[in-house]
Amino acid sequence: MSRILEKIYVLFRMNILIFVLLAITVIALFAHQNGLDVIEPLYLHDYPYIIAETDSADGGASAVKLSRTDSSIIVDYELKEGYAYPYVGVKIFLGDGKTRGKDLSKFDSIFVWVKPRGEGTVRLYMRGYDSTFSRPDDELSLKFNEIEFFPLEETYPAVFVPQEFRVASWWVAQNGVNVHNARVDLSNIPLIEIQTGTNAPLGYGTLEIKGLCFKGKKISKAELSTALVALWFITFFVILMIRFFDYSRERTASKKKREELEKNLRALEIEKSEYEKSSKEDPLTGCLNRAGFSSVLMREQENLQKNDSPVSFVILDIDHFKHVNDTYGHMVGDEVLVNLAKLIQSKIRNTDALVRWGGEEFVILCGDTPIQNAQFLAEKLRMAIENSQLIKQQKITCSFGIAEMIAGEDPKRLFERADKALYASKENGRNRVTSATFRHTR
Ligand code: GH3
Ligand code: MG
Ligand code: MG
Repeated sequence: MSRILEKIYVLFRMNILIFVLLAITVIALFAHQNGLDVIEPLYLHDYPYIIAETDSADGGASAVKLSRTDSSIIVDYELKEGYAYPYVGVKIFLGDGKTRGKDLSKFDSIFVWVKPRGEGTVRLYMRGYDSTFSRPDDELSLKFNEIEFFPLEETYPAVFVPQEFRVASWWVAQNGVNVHNARVDLSNIPLIEIQTGTNAPLGYGTLEIKGLCFKGKKISKAELSTALVALWFITFFVILMIRFFDYSRERTASKKKREELEKNLRALEIEKSEYEKSSKEDPLTGCLNRAGFSSVLMREQENLQKNDSPVSFVILDIDHFKHVNDTYGHMVGDEVLVNLAKLIQSKIRNTDALVRWGGEEFVILCGDTPIQNAQFLAEKLRMAIENSQLIKQQKITCSFGIAEMIAGEDPKRLFERADKALYASKENGRNRVTSATFRHTR
């Protein structure tokens, strides 16, 4: 159970950024859905930049009177014949009223509280300034983003979304505006006009206008989506970078570990080969010991079996060595052993194996050597020992026994035969070479 919890914890820790991101996304979407509203009311009863307007500018004869109550403005009018489409209304100036107005494009809905005391529609113009076609001192060049509607009863506001506005076609035609500039644009509105509509009857009437209200979100849906996508993208990039750095760090660590292991392995291999060598060597003389000898013996046996290559076995023993030890001490005895080994080693071939058989007995295993050659070698060695000064105190001599290996023979038998020959050398006065009587016929 705890292992499962541990795994979940590791997974959680690894992906904590994703969890945080998910939480942020959900919270942001929820907050956007249920809050983050921007509400900007425009109450007209105390708004100073309002003037009344009539169709007199177009040659009409309609009359208008603007007054204010505690909560609204009252537009009393009389529509008269004169202009083809008689009208009256109010102009509400925003910003500097000419070139810099209010950005209404960020709002989702526009509320208008207007109550006609009479019949007919009401017109709402959002007049847009755009330097590509508007001229600062020509009010007619402000774009006519318009909507015409029947106001609702009493206090209910009319609600519009920006998409419901149209650009007045007569304005497009009159100003020769190209198609790209003929679409609704509420991003800079210096002037709002509320007027009687096209079908307002002639005669007296009143418009009671409380005001407008613009409602939107602090962040638009598009902005929120872009921000969230960017956030996810950055987070994944960060995760990717973290993973990449983790990976390269792990790789460096494992490479270092591997190198260390390889170094240790090499050291161990050197140690092993040194150990193997020393385990087959006699520490005093550096000759092979019996363990080292057995592998050489096997090789030579095989050579004899397969290739019929003769192998000779020479055993030698120092004469009266006990006497040397007793007279000059063990140190001198050891010196004899070391120097004797050196001397023999210098006289034999590389392929011959010199073995310290035990105590002051040595064996030479000579591959590819018939007994006659071994006899010759032993005689040469015997004379060399006799004529050399192994230690300064006295002459040293050795006795030799020789035997030739017989294919398939038990090695023990070979040693016995050589040993017998050695014994004969001792018996016959020492410092001599004796060959085993058995002669191999080939
Ligand atoms: P022989 O001519 O009959 O061989 O006489 P020997 O005295 O050599 O014969 P023996 O086998 O009785 O003596 C061998 C002596 O070799 C006995 C031992 O003290 C000595 N010896 C054996 N190993 C070592 C060694 O490693 N160092 C020294 N200094 N002496 C050793
Ligand atoms: Mg001996
Ligand atoms: Mg001896």
